[in-house]
Amino acid sequence: MDPSSPIQLVKGFKDILPGESELWQYIERTAISLFEDFGFREIRIPIMEKTELFARGIGEVTDIVEKEMYTFSDRGGDMLTLRPEATASICRSYIQHKMAAQDPVRKFYTIGPMFRRERPQKGRYRQFYQIDAEVLGIAGPHADSELILLAHTLFQRLAVTDTVCRLNSLGCPVCRPKFKAALSALLDSAASSLCPDCLRRKDKNPLRVLDCKAAGCRAAMEDAPMIIDFLCDECRCHFEAVTDTLSQLNVPFEIDKHLVRGLDYYTRTAFEIQTHALGAQSAVAGGGRYDGLVEVLGGPPTPAIGFAVGFDRLAEIVGATTVIPARPVDLFIAALGDTARRLAFEWSMTLKLAGITTEMIVDDKSLKAQMKQANRLGANQVLIMGEAELADGTVVLRDMATKAQRDIPVEAVLTTVTDLFSGIRNKTCV
Ligand code: ATP
Ligand code: MG
Repeated sequence: MDPSSPIQLVKGFKDILPGESELWQYIERTAISLFEDFGFREIRIPIMEKTELFARGIGEVTDIVEKEMYTFSDRGGDMLTLRPEATASICRSYIQHKMAAQDPVRKFYTIGPMFRRERPQKGRYRQFYQIDAEVLGIAGPHADSELILLAHTLFQRLAVTDTVCRLNSLGCPVCRPKFKAALSALLDSAASSLCPDCLRRKDKNPLRVLDCKAAGCRAAMEDAPMIIDFLCDECRCHFEAVTDTLSQLNVPFEIDKHLVRGLDYYTRTAFEIQTHALGAQSAVAGGGRYDGLVEVLGGPPTPAIGFAVGFDRLAEIVGATTVIPARPVDLFIAALGDTARRLAFEWSMTLKLAGITTEMIVDDKSLKAQMKQANRLGANQVLIMGEAELADGTVVLRDMATKAQRDIPVEAVLTTVTDLFSGIRNKTCV
């Protein structure tokens, strides 16, 4: 390859450029403020963990661990993986810092990049972002409804109003074995219609077959037993309490008896939030209870539930109807001559420090070129100062919208500009 040719980014990765990042920040601010209203605290976990954490925490017989992880041995020979999701790391951290000993109930949120080596396509990237919330230490159904209300409200606040929450219960280690036995019997009799992946999975992780998109597997699973028909009394009561409180809170949901998670530590409530906003129906969030995970990772038995929102898909949906403008430039200083430029530079720094976005060109440019730049930046006001104006002790302040100009005494410039923008800020509450 030509050593001077420009280097492109890695396939399936992307840049989020100014123009788009304002939207991402808006979504982040909305999510964070909502999480904090609900008593969630931010946790920041590493981008990389020991491979074993995900192998144990997500499960060997899953798409993620079998074929999607970015795993490599580092120079010391340790096997490391770029995190494909946040839940396992959060549980690792909860255990490692012995959080249960002080207060087992913890509510966390985290926002950041995840990595999965999938086939890149619209809405599917190899580095993508998730907005993640997890509640550890609460077993009761109210935690489930509260978390689903939280996810639902996030979409509402971002004006994504067509979401549907699909809901199911996956039972628990008491009732699931009976369901698995019934399912395995069906899978054995339908083996000839299953795809090669499901043939392999059917003994190790039969629930995964219910999730398979292959036509043969779907047809074979049409009459499959439903886990919801196998729930023990405790799981049934839990599920009824969740649906009951969701109705009480006016959170729309649909029971989807086919919704499964393939992993043993997933228990009881599983949900997915779907929208049509991206064309075909697709999931913008997935979540559920995982009462067995902390223990699988070597911690004390700890009930837990969480969800992850696909940030990229959410940004695409919100961005289709909402434009978040970049912060406008408040003031442009057009200065002519060395003395004026020197003073303009000092003023622009003072004003920036006071929270007023101020721009100028420090090189020697014509007034025409400077006004052009002020227009390009969309400056609200322009301060025009040449050597002659300075000699007179006044500069010109031009309102770019009304084109009105006024003379300002040099010594009053900073207070005039500061007062002007604090007035505008107070009016528009920016
Ligand atoms: P899918 O069925 O779309 O592969 P998933 O079950 O793998 O989703 P989860 O692990 O539950 O997804 O992650 C939660 C959310 O993260 C998904 O609902 C989706 O919006 C988003 N997501 C998952 N994988 C990707 C990806 N490769 N690119 C962009 N967003 C993703
Ligand atoms: Mg996936």
